[in-house]
Amino acid sequence: MKVKVRIAPSPTGNLHVGTAQAALYNWLFAKKNKGEFYLRIEDTDKERSTKESEENIIEALTWLDLRWDGPVVHSTDNQARYRELLEKLLNEKKVFYCHHAQGELEAERKSQEMAKLPPRHVCEHKYSERGGESGGIVRLAVNEKSDRVITFEDQVRGRVEFKQNLLGDFSVGRSIDDALYHFAVVVDDIDMEITHVLRGEDHISNTPKHILIYEALGLSIPVFAHLPLILAPDRSKMSKRHGDTAVTVFKKDYLPEALLNFLGAMSYTFSKELLTKEEMIEEFELSKVHKSGAVFNVDKLNWINSQYIRRLTSTEFKSLTGLKIPDSAVPLVTERLEKLSDVKNFDYLWQEPEYEKELLIWKDSRPEDVKNSLEESRKILEKTEDKEKVRKALDELGQKIGNRGLVYWPLRVAVTGKEKSPDPVEVVAALNREDVLKRIDVAINKL
Ligand code: GLU
Repeated sequence: MKVKVRIAPSPTGNLHVGTAQAALYNWLFAKKNKGEFYLRIEDTDKERSTKESEENIIEALTWLDLRWDGPVVHSTDNQARYRELLEKLLNEKKVFYCHHAQGELEAERKSQEMAKLPPRHVCEHKYSERGGESGGIVRLAVNEKSDRVITFEDQVRGRVEFKQNLLGDFSVGRSIDDALYHFAVVVDDIDMEITHVLRGEDHISNTPKHILIYEALGLSIPVFAHLPLILAPDRSKMSKRHGDTAVTVFKKDYLPEALLNFLGAMSYTFSKELLTKEEMIEEFELSKVHKSGAVFNVDKLNWINSQYIRRLTSTEFKSLTGLKIPDSAVPLVTERLEKLSDVKNFDYLWQEPEYEKELLIWKDSRPEDVKNSLEESRKILEKTEDKEKVRKALDELGQKIGNRGLVYWPLRVAVTGKEKSPDPVEVVAALNREDVLKRIDVAINKL
């Protein structure tokens, strides 16, 4: 039997990092088992679903290079089938029309809440010949008198048990023509021949409902695995109020390989910290996915990203950033970047620095001393391009005037326009020497 998995994001917002992690684990599982991975847009909630969200989901998955098999599937394309199966179940009296009014249901829900009972709605009339008036909400007939415990072997969490009598006659359609999530997800998974449902732990309490629908339809139940959630530092499910959660927001700062490596390693212990998708496939086993959620640690993500940035060739780095900088200057940046957008801190590599004259002054030194120091440094830089010779000569100059800072500080500011930068000797070596001398002249003229 060929393994077939899917992710089924609802297009009601941008692709969340948690869904991206679920996509990765589904993808790894499919690849490991020579199976197939599908993308289904679960647009059953027509009011909240948007085209923009769908585009965002596709953009994010494409950026992460998590390629799905076949075309994108849409739940709304399967509506005729939902109706056909709901009718079949109506005829078999496995679902029924509920004739309770909205107000009655509301009052029932409130009284259960007050009594601290789990919310559920049980219809007495489901057993009657008519099964409620036709039209309106369609519910699955669940025997509330049964003491059955619905169990399934979750591939991540082990055996999971739910009492059937807590479920009530849950709704499966707003009407016969408007199937709800619980029904649509089951029918879509059946039609797509999904063998393994790997999804977020927030769906675990839906699974007994889905099992009852599979049973009502008389179809075999897939294997379930509920993946741990991505948590915010306060250990609640990470959401927008904790910061950026949309994968596409990460594009400006992170390499897709780094984000995937981070997401993969968040809820799985691989043999090493840095690994490619192919290496993750090799090691991946569903049963080893962690049971408990992990906190989204941005420092860790930044570190992983910095390691991937370091490995970029100068051609890769330049095409990624679109920057025109000398090849010799690329390592100066890639060895120090955690986030791609921080590249702006190195703007002196591709444009003239801009700064106030005061920045050139080292501590309480006098402007004429700074000027002298820069003139001496200029002479050294005119004479040789050899990095080590330059360093030695600048060190000697520092000793001669008895103040190392008076040599290096103004030189750094003249060349970079900044208080902080990599070693000025390295910056000077990475830049075109003519440009360096011009920058020193500009500085001297300011004083
Ligand atoms: N549409 C659901 C969601 O976005 C996923 C349901 C599932 O994977 O079964 O959370």
